[in-house]
Amino acid sequence: MKQYVWLNPVSVAMYGGDDLIAQLKAKGMEPVECRLDHAGFVREKYRHAMGKAGGCVADMRCPLAVDYVKERYAPDFLEYPPIEPILLHCARELHQRLLGAGELLVTTPCRALKELGTSLRLPGVEFLTFLELARRHGISLHKKELEESPIPPGFFAELNDRIEILDSRVKMDDYFSAPAPKTLPALLELLYCEGGCHRGDGVWEGAE
Ligand code: SF4
Repeated sequence: MKQYVWLNPVSVAMYGGDDLIAQLKAKGMEPVECRLDHAGFVREKYRHAMGKAGGCVADMRCPLAVDYVKERYAPDFLEYPPIEPILLHCARELHQRLLGAGELLVTTPCRALKELGTSLRLPGVEFLTFLELARRHGISLHKKELEESPIPPGFFAELNDRIEILDSRVKMDDYFSAPAPKTLPALLELLYCEGGCHRGDGVWEGAE
């Protein structure tokens, strides 16, 4: 059966290039890309969510951050809109497009997104971290040191000037340990890994 593989933008920025593509093809995998602007779609969904929210909207893109905040702090002012992470929007597009054409491997920058993707139970789709894919197929990697994530903190800045960015577990701890602010932000951007997904446990070996 034909095997397609989608490399998430973080993995591409950290490990991508002609050599990686050649290795994937040599192992029988066909790299595929999304055609739709899912980052833009997701941002618009948050614009809509903020417009109808009574409290402060939580950024739902990072499942580990959302679970952490819910389990550890459960703030009563946060609203959790049912907006899937960008990566799952990408996976759904490719799943629809490639339905019946072969197996689709969707790489993630972390185990949390892998687990969330797997929970969708999309037929013919396997979610796995980028490092798992590399190990499974004996791919040799050439890592680039990134100054910042390809999707850096500040994703929602153009939507509203009342966005608070908590782009690490430590920042979330500091924020939620303090008394709730009198004036709430419109949205809390939540990322568990410091600075974003380039520190995810599926792309950064030191994080595993
Ligand atoms: S890589 Fe880190 S910041 Fe990005 S979604 Fe996964 S846990 Fe969250």
